[in-house]
Amino acid sequence: MAEVLVFVDHADGAVRKPTLELLTLARRLGDPVAVAVGAGAAATAGVLTEHGAVKVLTHEAAEYADYLVVPKVDALQAAVVAVSPVAVLVPSSAEGKEVAARLALRVGSGVITDAVDVEAGEQGPVATQSVFAAGFTTKSRVSKGVAVITVKPNSAAVEAAAAAGTVKELAVSFSALATGTKVTARTPRESTGRPELTEAAVVVSGGRGVGGAESFAVIEALADSLGAAVGASRAAVDAGWYPHTAQVGQTGKSVSPQLYIASGISGAIQHRAGMQTSKTIVAINKDAEAPIFDLVDYGVVGDLFDVVPQLTDEIKTRKG
Ligand code: FAD
Repeated sequence: MAEVLVFVDHADGAVRKPTLELLTLARRLGDPVAVAVGAGAAATAGVLTEHGAVKVLTHEAAEYADYLVVPKVDALQAAVVAVSPVAVLVPSSAEGKEVAARLALRVGSGVITDAVDVEAGEQGPVATQSVFAAGFTTKSRVSKGVAVITVKPNSAAVEAAAAAGTVKELAVSFSALATGTKVTARTPRESTGRPELTEAAVVVSGGRGVGGAESFAVIEALADSLGAAVGASRAAVDAGWYPHTAQVGQTGKSVSPQLYIASGISGAIQHRAGMQTSKTIVAINKDAEAPIFDLVDYGVVGDLFDVVPQLTDEIKTRKG
């Protein structure tokens, strides 16, 4: 059976959820072969095997942490040469997209980024993308070389599927470019205890309607009742009410959760570009004419300071 490479995103051996989603998609195309590099790579094998990896190729070296992107491209290229896969699936993070683009260039392939679905096709894997602020859905396939596809988080369910999971050391020789950009410092972000925005199954966002930094506590309380990540519109970020890392939209992060709740957000096209592929969209806005209501599954016309606390209380009550 054809093999499909899945590039593993992990932190010291803890595999991130989008990688497990890629394994679900990879199984539709062939036998998933996971490629894990960096510190803790060998420790990823157990969970990858439980989710369908027939092989896990690992390589640990200091270069992956000390230099940006290129060592990972070198490793993935080595895996492509070793395996001759039908496709390479990479998580659609900023880094993942850079790795995918560089890999495609190196191996002379086409690349598709930000896919929201991948299926087998007669002439190779077919990727679904949601484009023009999700105004259109397109299907594409790579017509030259191995299909390199980056897939957005939450595009598939995580499914357990025990597989052989043979672990092998990947032989990687770093290119001259690998040490071109050195990481000079690292500062861990203060933990909020909430899930990562781009990976969260539920995102609760606030916009200019929230009215100030302190009022974001209302949004955070709803998020915490649902175990959600907190997002913000650019207006709220530009006003200094919430960090830029939480910005959703064209110039912020792209999210695709199961549930997106927008409060006090008008629904400008640049905001929609980052959230419109969410599975269920809920908006709370006091203006019944706000454009956000054109794309919602459920809309509440009302003052968010009336609606959101009631919603939070109701969720807490139902959760017991
Ligand atoms: P507004 O448009 O001002 O809307 C606020 C809403 O809150 C209104 O609909 C109002 O009715 C409602 N409201 C007010 N008070 C309450 C209340 N008490 N209860 C309920 N509702 C209330 N924007 C992004 O979000 N992300 C991006 O990445 C992004 N990138 C951009 C890139 C470019 C190149 C440009 C030009 C713009 C970009 N923008 C982006 C900005 C975008 O155009 C909008 O200006 C922005 O999204 C508006 O944010 P907002 O909806 O919070 O504010």
